[in-house]
Amino acid sequence: MLLEIKDIHVHYGKIAAIKGISLEVGDGEIVSLIGANGAGKTTTLKTISGLRPLTSGSILFNGADISRMPGHKRVVAGIGQSPEGRGVFPGMTVQENLLMGAYTRKDSLDADLAEVYELFPRLNERKNQFGGTMSGGEQQMIAIGRALMTKPKVLLLDEPSMGLAPMLIAQIFEIIKEINKRGTTVLLVEQNAQQALKLSDRAYVLETGRVVKSAPGPELLDDPQVRAAYLGGH
Ligand code: ATP
Repeated sequence: MLLEIKDIHVHYGKIAAIKGISLEVGDGEIVSLIGANGAGKTTTLKTISGLRPLTSGSILFNGADISRMPGHKRVVAGIGQSPEGRGVFPGMTVQENLLMGAYTRKDSLDADLAEVYELFPRLNERKNQFGGTMSGGEQQMIAIGRALMTKPKVLLLDEPSMGLAPMLIAQIFEIIKEINKRGTTVLLVEQNAQQALKLSDRAYVLETGRVVKSAPGPELLDDPQVRAAYLGGH
């Protein structure tokens, strides 16, 4: 397994947000976390990337225990994150935003920058425009592109479809599939369970800080409980 999360507990002060989650992500997979608001999806991603500390449990990456490793070292190790809310630097150009993803790297960036521009031609067209003037969908592209510039082995995506028009949502999911096809493992958090399950090899359903179900994505699409709770009962 590329990523193994073993019985993690995470607190905000006295509040337990994650109450014993275990999950695995295999090399080359797309794995999704779905669940209602407050289920602990974002906190799980932040704990994997090192933005939140563990109370207990462990995180293994490539077989090594990274539970206490600082976040910036996890980036170097190969964990890239596109955060909820995107975090685009408004006063920097598109290209400067993308290069921020690579500030820990010392190797040549040209090939990776070219690949990001190939995946997102819109960013190429607007590389000198300020990030803050880009549309919501375009800022989402910047956030994903910036995470790709870290050259991740696993890409953590937090709500990439949030706030986007339906056509752009379809496009973002296509791009996620393409990124995966090119060799990057993906751990995806999504409110848009329908789309996420469709493209996921496997998925975990979270409820109040626990995993209540896990199965291949398409199987969960047909699960009556999942349909009723997360797919609008259709
Ligand atoms: P959403 O889709 O709304 O982001 P989520 O499944 O990602 O939901 P989290 O954001 O991980 O859920 O939240 C899990 C729990 O932790 C919730 O009960 C939330 O209120 C709590 N929580 C999250 N962030 C904080 C914080 N900064 N301070 C205190 N409690 C927090």
